[in-house]
Amino acid sequence: METLFPIEKFRATRTPFYYYDITLLRKTIEDVKNEAAKYDNFVVHYAVKANVNPKILKIISEGGLGADCVSGGEIEAAMRAGFPSSGIVFAGVGKADWEINTALDANIFCFNVESVPELEVINELAKAKGKTANVCFRINPEVGAHTHANITTGLAENKFGIAMSDMVPVIERALSLENINFTGLHFHIGSQILDMHDFEQLCLRINELQDVLASKGIKVENINVGGGLGINYDDPEKDPVPDFKSYFKTFANGLRLRPGQKVHFELGRSIVAQMGSLITKVLYVKKGVNKLFCIVDAGMTDLIRPALYHASHKIENITSGKPSETYDVVGPICESSDVFAKDIPVGACERGDLIAMRSAGAYGEIMASQYNCRRLPVGYTSEDFK
Ligand SMILES: *Cc1c(COP(=O)(O)O)cnc(C)c1O
Repeated sequence: METLFPIEKFRATRTPFYYYDITLLRKTIEDVKNEAAKYDNFVVHYAVKANVNPKILKIISEGGLGADCVSGGEIEAAMRAGFPSSGIVFAGVGKADWEINTALDANIFCFNVESVPELEVINELAKAKGKTANVCFRINPEVGAHTHANITTGLAENKFGIAMSDMVPVIERALSLENINFTGLHFHIGSQILDMHDFEQLCLRINELQDVLASKGIKVENINVGGGLGINYDDPEKDPVPDFKSYFKTFANGLRLRPGQKVHFELGRSIVAQMGSLITKVLYVKKGVNKLFCIVDAGMTDLIRPALYHASHKIENITSGKPSETYDVVGPICESSDVFAKDIPVGACERGDLIAMRSAGAYGEIMASQYNCRRLPVGYTSEDFK
């Protein structure tokens, strides 16, 4: 049977584990860099939250991308992996004082600020250090991404960001603060977005907001459009590298930039999802009343996306050469939501077969938990199995 995977090495490895295809990761990084480099003012940051495995972070930092962090821990992880602090942006609605201080000490590129109380605290903490903090404001553009409700973030009433109607007074407040340097606008409309119209809508909204600020004489250096580019979960073989070309072109065509403005991107999933698979072993095949259950040794503690977002990953039996049967693929955790997929075709399963859950490089390993006193899954790279 043809497979992308080093099966014999897998058989000698305790399951479940994550497997990262480093060749594909490198190819993806090259592609994102080359496509962004067609526009001399585009800057790409990797959204660290998608995968912080140190081996993966190191490869991405060596690729020369900046880092988008959402916690003090992520700033520390990014710096340990070699990301220069001058390329770090820091978002999040609830930045704690120690996290703000960590970012100030590191002299990061920019805080993406999500409320006025946060702005005031950053100003005070910067003042205490005799520093000036660069800030962008995260504005909710009221452009809805047509994806799952839990991953749609750009609407008006939302814990994230600042309403458009508050934008001007908030910026004016920032301009009045001594230890704050207002540098631009930040947006993030959601995740797993494949319809470029959503990004076109975002561009239109940004153009309108820029006109408002220009009319008030407010200078904007940076436009950060966030992340959210989706990937092909159904057919990872078809699109191993996402269509970065169309993505960047959408912004190049859609944004009406002022002279000298830079456009920042915060891509997570699209950089790391396709290189990763969760490898798990079939424990039991159980006959239900009308169904067959394939019970595997990975659970929602290893890969929570199906339970959390009703996400679906392509599931393949990588050791069975047999024709498919229809299974519910489920884990061992004591929760009825611990289901990876229902009524899907998988090569006929037997105890001991290895299963790959594809496209699991983003929001996989990093979201693992120890619920039920489970061991955390290890993340191996293709280089570890050479
Ligand atoms: C999660 C997040 C990203 C990355 O999103 P992807 O869908 O993984 O590209 C970028 N920016 C912000 C502010 C985020 O919260």
